[in-house]
Amino acid sequence: MIDLRSDTVTLPSAQMLNAIMSAPLGDDGRANAIGRGEDATVNALEDYAAELFGKEAAVFFPTGTLANTSALLTWAESNQKVLMEPLLHIVKSEKTAFSPRFGQLVPISYDVTERGTPCADSIEKLITEHQPALLLLENSHNFRGGLCLSADEMDKLCDTAHEYNVPVHLDGARVFNAQAYTGTPVSRLCKNADSLMFCLSKGLGAPIGSLVVSDFEFSKRLRETRKLLGGTMRQVGVAAAPGIYALKHNISNAEIDNQHAQLFLQRLGNLRHLQVQTPVHSNIVMISTANTAYTPEQLCADAKAEGLQIRPVLTEMVRLVFHSGVSADDAKEAAEIISRLDERLTVN
Ligand SMILES: *Cc1c(COP(=O)(O)O)cnc(C)c1O
Repeated sequence: MIDLRSDTVTLPSAQMLNAIMSAPLGDDGRANAIGRGEDATVNALEDYAAELFGKEAAVFFPTGTLANTSALLTWAESNQKVLMEPLLHIVKSEKTAFSPRFGQLVPISYDVTERGTPCADSIEKLITEHQPALLLLENSHNFRGGLCLSADEMDKLCDTAHEYNVPVHLDGARVFNAQAYTGTPVSRLCKNADSLMFCLSKGLGAPIGSLVVSDFEFSKRLRETRKLLGGTMRQVGVAAAPGIYALKHNISNAEIDNQHAQLFLQRLGNLRHLQVQTPVHSNIVMISTANTAYTPEQLCADAKAEGLQIRPVLTEMVRLVFHSGVSADDAKEAAEIISRLDERLTVN
C-alpha cells in the first residue's frame, strides 16, 4: 500500500530510535532563572534549532498545534485582532486561538493574490484600520497545495507589518520543503518573521515534536504560556533526541519529497476529468473531483482498492503528500493508479 495521506505517517528510523538510548535526560520542567530546564537533550535540540534558523532561542513542544496556539496566545490577548486568511492551518484546522471558548482572538481576514499568496496592500490597509496584534503567515501552505513564499515575498509582508510595529508569526510546519523549493536557507527565508513554528514530526521523520524559534525575550514569555497550557514536559529528551537526529540527517529529505511530487505530475500526464493543481511547489499535490460525478470520498475508496491511500480535503479535493516513506517507484505507481481511475470516470 502506498500511503500519501500525510507526511505525518513517516516512521522513525532505527538510528533515530537508537539516539534515545544514549540521550542524557533530566526534568525539563524544572527551570532555571532564564527559563531553561534540566534536560540536556532538550536544551541541545533547542540550541541547535535556534542556530539553524539564525534566531536567539527555540522552545520545544509536543505538537505543532500547541506550539502555534502558545505563540499566538503569547503575542495577543483575548479580544485582540489578528490578521489571517481562512485557509491557514491555524484557522481552519487548529481553531483554538480564535475559538470563543478558548483563545478568543478576533480574526481579521486579509486578501490573497490570484496565486494564493498574502496581499501586502490588503494587509497594510487592515493594519491601519484595525491595529492588529499579529500577522499570521504559512510557508509552505498546506491547504493551498504546498504553495511556497519566496524570501522576497516573506520580506515584503514582514516589512509591511513591521512598519506599523505589528509582529509576524510564521506557521512553518513544512518550512524545509519551502527551503528546498526556493533554494533559500531557512535562516534567510524566515529572517524577518518574529516567531516561527516548524514540525519535526512530518517530513523530518521524527515521531513527535515541534519547535518555535524567536528572540530570547519572546521565548521566555512563550515558556510561561506553554506551562499554562500544560505543555511543560519532564524527561522529554526521549522525544528531543530523535529530533536532533532528524535535524542533522533528514533535512535533505524535503528536496527528494518535492522531486517525487514533480515525478508524480510528469507521469500523470493529462487527465480527462480530474483536475490537478498547478503549479506544484513542494511535496503536496491537490486533485479536484469537481468536474466529475465522483465525490472525493469515492475517489479515495477506489484508490485504496488499487493500493493507494489518499485523503479528502477541503471541498471536492483530495490531497497527496510525498514523504520519505514513498520511493520514486511509488510516485510513478501512484500516478498510474490516478490515471487509471481518471479513465474509468469516463464510463460514469
Ligand atoms: C501539521 C501542521 C501543523 C501542526 O500539526 P500537529 O499535528 O499539531 O503537530 C501546523 N501547521 C501546518 C501547516 C501543518 O501542516
